Amino acid sequence: MSVSTKDKDLIWYPFSKGKREDIVSINSAKGSYIYEEDGTAYLDLVSSWWTTLHGHCHPFIVQSICEQASKLDHVIFSGFSHAPAKQLCEELRKDLPSQLSKFFFSDDGSTSVEIALKMAYQYWFNQDKKDKLIFLNFEGGYHGDTFGAMSVGNTSGYHDIFSEFFFKTLTIPCPTTWDGDENIEEREKHALSVLRSYLEEFGEHIGTLIVEPLFQAAVGMRIHRPEFLSTVVSMVREYNILVIFDEVMTGFFRTGTCFALDQLSVVPDILCLGKGITGGCLPLGLTIVTEELYECFASKKHRYTFSHGHTFTGNPIICAAAVASMQLLHREETRRSVENIHAVHKEGMALLKQCSSVRRPRVLGAMSAFELEHESYCILSFRKLCLQEGLLLRPLQNTVNFIPPYSISPEELYNAYQTVGVLLNKHYS
Ligand SMILES: *Cc1c(COP(=O)(O)O)cnc(C)c1O
Repeated sequence: MSVSTKDKDLIWYPFSKGKREDIVSINSAKGSYIYEEDGTAYLDLVSSWWTTLHGHCHPFIVQSICEQASKLDHVIFSGFSHAPAKQLCEELRKDLPSQLSKFFFSDDGSTSVEIALKMAYQYWFNQDKKDKLIFLNFEGGYHGDTFGAMSVGNTSGYHDIFSEFFFKTLTIPCPTTWDGDENIEEREKHALSVLRSYLEEFGEHIGTLIVEPLFQAAVGMRIHRPEFLSTVVSMVREYNILVIFDEVMTGFFRTGTCFALDQLSVVPDILCLGKGITGGCLPLGLTIVTEELYECFASKKHRYTFSHGHTFTGNPIICAAAVASMQLLHREETRRSVENIHAVHKEGMALLKQCSSVRRPRVLGAMSAFELEHESYCILSFRKLCLQEGLLLRPLQNTVNFIPPYSISPEELYNAYQTVGVLLNKHYS
């Protein structure tokens, strides 16, 4: 593993722990692997921050990007449009509930959330309901690193320093669950009673609920149950509250279904997408809303229009990549890969459960996680041990997670579990 000090002199890395952290310089990538210049390979078990869907440098996506780049690189998306943007909306509509029918383009997950929050607030403003100022969120929810996203992610553990600037939220406890969890019903009941009391006391002043449906990723891969979330949504709807699902991370079959919302009996008013939407090779955010919400902006005076737009909105090359990714996603073999990954996660977790340091194993769709019974200073060394074995894993605090691209073979994934099992028994028992 080569540590490039030159890179470290120049670049301020995200979430960087400064000089303590080793940086590996990557030269190329293909399928489920990333490579150093000398050919050293790492199996990308976290899909490079949960983005890569079909594997790195997928030839079909690369070809679409190249063709689009030589035809139309970019065009102002105000007063002008282009085919790849429209095609992308059409591809997405095949998988979305029919109510979600208007697409607002932006740059990444945080901007898609920021836009959703602004739209939700202005939806009430446009109807002269300016006192619906409170946002409901879930304990541990993470929605990005910009200010609005931080406000509703105030209990994720990432943004405490900035809390003086946050707008008003009420936080619902999130009853998370795992294999062998015995009193989840009790915790769900408690969460619903907290929500009930918020609604009774502040209902009129709450405008919007935002959640990461079924799977809270950044706080530590926490799973909650679909019936619980459906109940929450039904309850808030009785108080005329808008619902935002942040599926930036859960979209595109990570939870086993195309979107987490497919496992619920409710449809949100606003849906945020990002990360895997281009297959994970270029950044794109989408905020998708109902016709009813859109109409509340469209038919009003200038003051009521949604005055928001990022410079590179709807870039055609990025849209072309996303169209190609959606087409791959609709292939039968992608479905099969997701099922295979799910099956191996189950086997792998059954294996790791036998290690004395493994706590709370859990699997949801094509994702799995467990907690290591050790202090976080050990986690950096765990990461390093995995890298030495050719595995790219990136625990969040003490939560180890496997979120591989769909290109991974069942054997590659199972072997990775076996290697991790050996490491745990050797260094963490
Ligand atoms: C990563 C993430 C975001 C932020 O997306 P960026 O592309 O990093 O801005 C928002 N919401 C969720 C659920 C995420 O996992």
